[in-house]
Amino acid sequence: MIDYRDALREVLARAKALPGESVSLAEALGRTLARDIRAAGDIPPFAKATMDGYAVSAACTRPPEGAAFVELEVTEDLPAGRISRRTVGPGQAARIMTGAPLPKGADAVVMVEDTEESGGRVRILRPVRAADNIGEAGEDVKKGELVLTKGALIGPAEVGMLAALGHTSVRVSRRPEAAVIATGDEIVEPGQKARPGQIRNSNGHALRAMAIQAGAKASYLGIARDKNSSLKLKIRKAREADILILSGGVSVGDYDLVKEELGALGVRPVFWRARIKPGKPIFFGLRGRQLVFGLPGNPTSAMVTFHLFVRPAIDKMLGRKSPGLRSGKAVVEEEISIKPGRTQFLRGILSGDGPELRVDPFPDQKSGVLKSMVKSRALIVVPADVSRIDKGSPVEIFFLD
Ligand code: AMP
Ligand code: MG
Repeated sequence: MIDYRDALREVLARAKALPGESVSLAEALGRTLARDIRAAGDIPPFAKATMDGYAVSAACTRPPEGAAFVELEVTEDLPAGRISRRTVGPGQAARIMTGAPLPKGADAVVMVEDTEESGGRVRILRPVRAADNIGEAGEDVKKGELVLTKGALIGPAEVGMLAALGHTSVRVSRRPEAAVIATGDEIVEPGQKARPGQIRNSNGHALRAMAIQAGAKASYLGIARDKNSSLKLKIRKAREADILILSGGVSVGDYDLVKEELGALGVRPVFWRARIKPGKPIFFGLRGRQLVFGLPGNPTSAMVTFHLFVRPAIDKMLGRKSPGLRSGKAVVEEEISIKPGRTQFLRGILSGDGPELRVDPFPDQKSGVLKSMVKSRALIVVPADVSRIDKGSPVEIFFLD
């Protein structure tokens, strides 16, 4: 049996970053940048008004001794998109709208609310200082600046930034293809009638969903029966996938044939059984470049082991910076006592936030209880040598979303 950290290291050592591909900006959301993005120019590209008002030389807006305000001559109208050919001279102002380039001679904008215009002249009711109400060229992004880095997840803000920089397509890492096979003689699909002794297939569907959420492309190949011939057929179908994920049939029962059949089909085992709970019987191996995960059949074990090992592998293949679930700290509300010997991943209910984040184990930690995954937003990581966690003490958690 292998320890959790060693098992994770074995998986990560074999998950290699996939080559990049180009996608349009419209398809970029949720993908991972395959290269650094530097700005080819300043954003904004020119100094501009950030308020509707009057472009002025700030020095000309201070009233002389004894006067309540200054009055300036309005020389022109500058809507957004128009470049002025004139210079704002002393005693002058240009009417300017938000987004319009600042004309020569001006170094500030007086808000329209602080003015009164009549007959081609404008009263400045409140003086401004240089740089008031203008956006400098390059104040957002400077030409040559490293704006987005390789390995970053593309969210809406990144899409906006790429657009602002003029990109219509972007180089992203290829999505790994994951094939999912459920196994078990007792398993039936959700649409079928479950006869006595039969169980609906949750793993096939949950694992497919997890693979997609992790950024992979997933195909679900259905249920293999606990027979070598049936397993062989399904496993062969998954030949082209980057990742093969099976659920069930990897323990020590009489009908647990997954390991044997994988071996017969040329999968080289890397490890089988890990000192973890849930998920002890997990199998990991390689078929050429394909990563093969035999996850335990219990629904919670299948999902937890996916989070612990498959997800980091997908992250690594995508070139993401820190593979795996985000970890953090929380304080346990109630004392927890556990049987030591394996690293445990208790399904935890979070409450509070920030430094006040609290966590409690879901009351039923049995590995067949799928509801614990529905209700929990964290895994509480309990090291293998710990048997008790006192109420109020901090623990490591993995965030599930
Ligand atoms: P196994 O790992 O094949 O021994 O299965 C362990 C437990 O998980 C058994 O109770 C199975 O009925 C259950 N199980 C296996 N595969 C699935 C599945 N695809 N969906 C729901 N439960 C499953
Ligand atoms: Mg089974």
